[in-house]
Amino acid sequence: MTRDGQVAGPRTDRIRSHLLALRERVATACEKADRNPGDVTIIAVTKTYPASDVRILAELGLTDVGENRDQEAGPKAAECSGLGLTWHFIGQLQTNKARSVARYADVVHSVDRGRLVRALGKGARAEGRELTCLVQVDLDPESAVGVLGPRGGVDPRDALSVAGEIEAEGGLSVGGVMAVAPREGDPGTAFARLHQVASEIRDRYPRARVISAGMSGDLEAAIEHGATHLRVGTALLGDRGPIVG
Ligand SMILES: *Cc1c(COP(=O)(O)O)cnc(C)c1O
Repeated sequence: MTRDGQVAGPRTDRIRSHLLALRERVATACEKADRNPGDVTIIAVTKTYPASDVRILAELGLTDVGENRDQEAGPKAAECSGLGLTWHFIGQLQTNKARSVARYADVVHSVDRGRLVRALGKGARAEGRELTCLVQVDLDPESAVGVLGPRGGVDPRDALSVAGEIEAEGGLSVGGVMAVAPREGDPGTAFARLHQVASEIRDRYPRARVISAGMSGDLEAAIEHGATHLRVGTALLGDRGPIVG
């Protein structure tokens, strides 16, 4: 820290300026949508970036971080356990990783099938933890599996039933919905659909208020359609390179 209490260092300066620009974007989008920026949480997606960046983000006041691979997230979360952060698991999840994820994740965004619900419930109970689960919705169910593989998610028509399975499972509660916009087409149309699904789930489970939508490239459209949580990597930490998604 410097004398005026600011965290110092070139990496910190860079992330701080990215964060200021991001907050500006969020504020502008909220103003356009007549929403309160305080109702939109930024989740810093730290995949491929080191624990030292997580520490910097925490020092800059961010409270939520997201990771998409258990092998990377587990050790990073352990290293950062003293920072009081909320950990979001946002990637495709195999049932055999559920117990490990249940150790450190507070919110799992990628819940899209009953088998995973049961594995996460079992893991949460074994670890003595409570997990909030979001139903991942596939906003492009018609498209065939792309070159990069499936992104996961349940058909919008089946989302309410997955929400019910989560609520019925000990150790889990349903927190809302999550989606990734389709690669092609207008993200606004997709996020409007997500908002509809979110409302159906919230009508049944009033505490399920989270809409996790919007990444570096489409967060304005997500805010316009009611996103409560943005998952932002590139715009905060820089390009990850072409291979890791
Ligand atoms: C990597 C990732 C993000 C962040 O994407 P950026 O474009 O870097 O902001 C958001 N959501 C999921 C599911 C991701 O895997």
